[in-house]
Amino acid sequence: MNTLRVTGGRVLRSDGRVTESDVLVDRDAGTIVAVDDETPEDAASESVDGTADETLDADGGLVIPGLVNAHTHVAMTLLRGYADDKPLDPWLREDIWPAEAELTPDDIEAGAELGVLEMIRSGTTAFADMYFAMDRVADAVDRAGLRARLGHGVVTVGKDAEDARADVEEGLEVAAALDGAADGRIRTAFMPHSLTTVGEEYLREGIAEAREAGIPVHLHANETTDEVDPIVDERGERPIAYAQDIDALGPDDFFAHGVHLDGSEIDRLADAGTAIVHCPASNMKLASGMAPVQRLREAGVTVALGTDGAASNNDLDVFDEMRDAAMLGKLAADDASAVPAAAVVEMATAGGAEALGLPGGRIEPGAAADLAVVDLDAPHLTPVHDPVSHLAYAARGSDVRHTVCDGEVLMRDREVLTLDAEAVQERAAAAASDLVDRVDE
Ligand SMILES: [Zn+2]
Repeated sequence: MNTLRVTGGRVLRSDGRVTESDVLVDRDAGTIVAVDDETPEDAASESVDGTADETLDADGGLVIPGLVNAHTHVAMTLLRGYADDKPLDPWLREDIWPAEAELTPDDIEAGAELGVLEMIRSGTTAFADMYFAMDRVADAVDRAGLRARLGHGVVTVGKDAEDARADVEEGLEVAAALDGAADGRIRTAFMPHSLTTVGEEYLREGIAEAREAGIPVHLHANETTDEVDPIVDERGERPIAYAQDIDALGPDDFFAHGVHLDGSEIDRLADAGTAIVHCPASNMKLASGMAPVQRLREAGVTVALGTDGAASNNDLDVFDEMRDAAMLGKLAADDASAVPAAAVVEMATAGGAEALGLPGGRIEPGAAADLAVVDLDAPHLTPVHDPVSHLAYAARGSDVRHTVCDGEVLMRDREVLTLDAEAVQERAAAAASDLVDRVDE
């Protein structure tokens, strides 16, 4: 067995305890073999004893499951800071869509590489991505060493029937072609952009084919009242009821946002087992509203966290998302005890892995070896009364020392090993600058 030992740190265990433990990883299988205990007689600790082929020094750090960014558009890093301070609809129509119309596959790969670099640096090991030229995004994921669930974002509004049908077909073909890529680290989903930007007949056709192929569905749902009201006006039913009518509400499906949900919709999500990806920073920045996170969790809905694209965040740091989710969740519930620290940590780890149907999210024997080591010795993390509190409220992505995915060390001592960070940043900055020049022409 080719082994990696993460040694000398404290470990956030899957039952919520924090223990001083070593974590032994089988690099070939990409799994955690053992997490030793304070009790040296423990059977698990025996297998951790002895030498490993490689060690990672976690002294003074906290070993956590790799974070999961369950909704983003990773290549939008090229549009970071390009257009801010506008409501969703004019922001999309006046700024984002015209810029996206100029994007080439090379641009998308450059933006995706920048995004995966940023995610490795901030301890994220898995993400879901809805965008275009997904084969190029997959190439970036493969090189970087992360896990992802990828899909082509299907939009049919403003298209004739032929173009609309071709976009649905592309969504299905991309999902079939990329599933299992990167040694199985890449999985896919059918990703209609939303229930208002894809026509009903195309939704029905695409989802029926996705079901047949066993591919989950991911879409934006109930993000703003502009996404809810037209459906209620036209159909006389709420969007989640509509989603159920068109068979888009399955146990493997996951919807982004879920801001404007009523009680009946929360019940439907809970009954169907469909997950919600909460994107608090994007919801605040676009003034979309406050998702009922506490109510969703109390109803038994799986809630994950997502950054959304870097143009509406403006970073891909899931630590920020944990803090924002806790803060906004309290405000939304008008209750300071709502959405506590442990809840947002769970949403960013096990909840994210469950929503995406990907391995990871837990540190325990048999789980995928997807983890990060967070330094706890910085001034803003001193003293350490409660490491879980620090993860939710005080730590930042830049506190991550090491990142491991599928048993491979992607970042050691803040140096990313799988990508040339300087070259990635230069390439992305040049692509973004050329892109803006083309848009302005
Ligand atoms: Zn989005």
